[in-house]
Amino acid sequence: MVQKFDVIVVGGGHAGCEAAAVAARAGASVALVTLDANDAGTMSCNPAIGGLGKGHLVREIDALDGLMGRIADSAGIQFRLLNRRKGAAVQGPRVQCDRARYRTAMGEALTAEPGITRIVAETTELIRNGSRITGIATSCGDIGAAAVVLTTGTFLGGIMHVGDLSTAGGRVGARRATRLGDAVRALGLPMARLKTGTPPRLDGRTIDWAGLDSQPGDAKPVFMSAMTRAPALPQLACAVTRTTPATHAIVRDNIALAPMYAGRIAGVGPRYCPSLEDKVMRFADRDSHQIFLEPEGLDDALVYPNGISTSLPLAIQAALLATIPGLARARIVQPGYAIEYDHIDPRVLTPGLRVTAFKGLWLAGQINGTTGYEEAAAQGLVAGLNAALAAGGGQEARFDRTSSYIGVMIDDLVTQGVSEPYRMFTSRAEYRLRLRIDNVAARLSGFGEAHGIIGRARADAARAHADAMAYGRAMLDTERATPSRLRAVGVEVRQDGIERTAFDWLRFDLVTWEDAVRVWPGLAAIDPAVADSLSTDAHYASYLTRQDSDVARFARDESLELGRADFAAIPGLSTEMTARLSAARPATIGAASRVPGITPAALTALLPFARRAA
Ligand code: FAD
Repeated sequence: MVQKFDVIVVGGGHAGCEAAAVAARAGASVALVTLDANDAGTMSCNPAIGGLGKGHLVREIDALDGLMGRIADSAGIQFRLLNRRKGAAVQGPRVQCDRARYRTAMGEALTAEPGITRIVAETTELIRNGSRITGIATSCGDIGAAAVVLTTGTFLGGIMHVGDLSTAGGRVGARRATRLGDAVRALGLPMARLKTGTPPRLDGRTIDWAGLDSQPGDAKPVFMSAMTRAPALPQLACAVTRTTPATHAIVRDNIALAPMYAGRIAGVGPRYCPSLEDKVMRFADRDSHQIFLEPEGLDDALVYPNGISTSLPLAIQAALLATIPGLARARIVQPGYAIEYDHIDPRVLTPGLRVTAFKGLWLAGQINGTTGYEEAAAQGLVAGLNAALAAGGGQEARFDRTSSYIGVMIDDLVTQGVSEPYRMFTSRAEYRLRLRIDNVAARLSGFGEAHGIIGRARADAARAHADAMAYGRAMLDTERATPSRLRAVGVEVRQDGIERTAFDWLRFDLVTWEDAVRVWPGLAAIDPAVADSLSTDAHYASYLTRQDSDVARFARDESLELGRADFAAIPGLSTEMTARLSAARPATIGAASRVPGITPAALTALLPFARRAA
């Protein structure tokens, strides 16, 4: 071997950057191998980080001192909290970034990390010794390592489509790298094809902005990183426009030219992020869809029209844009396209994202069947940490569903597999009232400290926040008042004569933090972020108590015996669940929970049976 490292990370996309960074924080010597010196942190599609469910993942990466949150904040040109009017548990911070600045900042952060050596080369082979992966072969020579993390995104068997033009490659503008795909296929792992797509990029100087609704960011931004205090860049507004019946007519008239509808794409696309073709054909009753016109940067004329991903021929893309208000003269700088690619069935992975059949090989990101930068980055963190731990002879670190969205995603992937590109939603987390963006440090900083992956500043901030929460909570549990005292300061509550603690009063929808401060002026000293968290804890208190007991009960039930259960006779199990359980014959509830494809609902149906049998 020319060079030897503890960990090799192949690919500098969102999974690769986070994998390399966490492995280095964990003390490993890391080689980050990318096709191009400047491709680390490239956003293949929209220039935005976060959103519903995805924002939670970024906050969790941030709590573990990962890169994505603070890099996104440093490049942020518009911050918005999605679902602001809904409950705190389902709100999602999102930041639109200056695409070029995000990539530059990511490159600088990786270069600044002394444990990472950046190598520009095409990875062509995995070097094996029996079932152990011992390194990689690259266009610049062989590199050895105890652990190899593959994060090659859409580059395995990637084929890009625009109309009837098909080109091999992983992303427009990136170098082709096809040989690694053959090497991965030779491992004999189960693989399948998926598809995704992107809209055309427009020259913003040819958009008629007058007359379009403007969408500014939030006046009080919510950041992706707990360490960010203020936006670093000037803030921009987006504009909103819509497709018209004429747009839809053009799509319908030309649908046979769309690669998906012409039968030239076999891969399954993301149901939750449909192409314009899919929107028009699948939702035929709708004659308009919203489009957000998002500037790509402060000194970049490019605009990303969010909502019209398409792979129709270029001439048709131009024709349909001409039917959209504000875009009649819009010039296409880069056509929209679809890409289909190979992914590996993630059920072959351990919860630490190691390929079970091989020693020394981890997979993270789109290669595991997910879609999205945030999902990729979170997996990168899990795989990179575990690669570093394994290289140092340590045990696999696991995230669980009860304490993080990262745990929910990993569990979904390795037990359920994917039938379409997997993306995160808050609805995937059954304990979502506990998994909030405001309590992420409390959930994860202990884990981060235990694995040595969070720095002093982060650990101090987490401890200061925990102390402030404990102090505030103690105040709320000590201060008491009767309904008449609340009425005296103008808060109308039922006059039942019962004296309650401040915390219990905050459980009522009618009582806000501002009301509480009027009753107990000492609460005004509490930091606004801590006050928000305490209010949310109070608001959800009864549900949280129930969820906490569900979590405790699940932990207790883990070892409950299923014996010789006749699964077909257990009420509440679907035919599919019955078939999976009958084939696997798990001995305990814990084992049943790890049978591939078994859903939380099926476990709930099994529990009463196992308890009766105990
Ligand atoms: P990537 O970000 O793709 O990074 C892969 C890295 O591997 C690159 O740095 C590449 O250079 C490197 N690499 C590959 N092969 C080799 C090799 N042999 N040797 C060395 N380096 C190699 N997500 C959404 O959420 N919504 C969307 O609408 C959406 N649309 C998309 C449209 C397109 C056209 C594409 C390509 C992707 C889209 N995505 C979308 C997905 C999103 O970009 C990915 O989910 C995310 O970037 C995956 O991150 P990753 O780290 O797994 O892979």
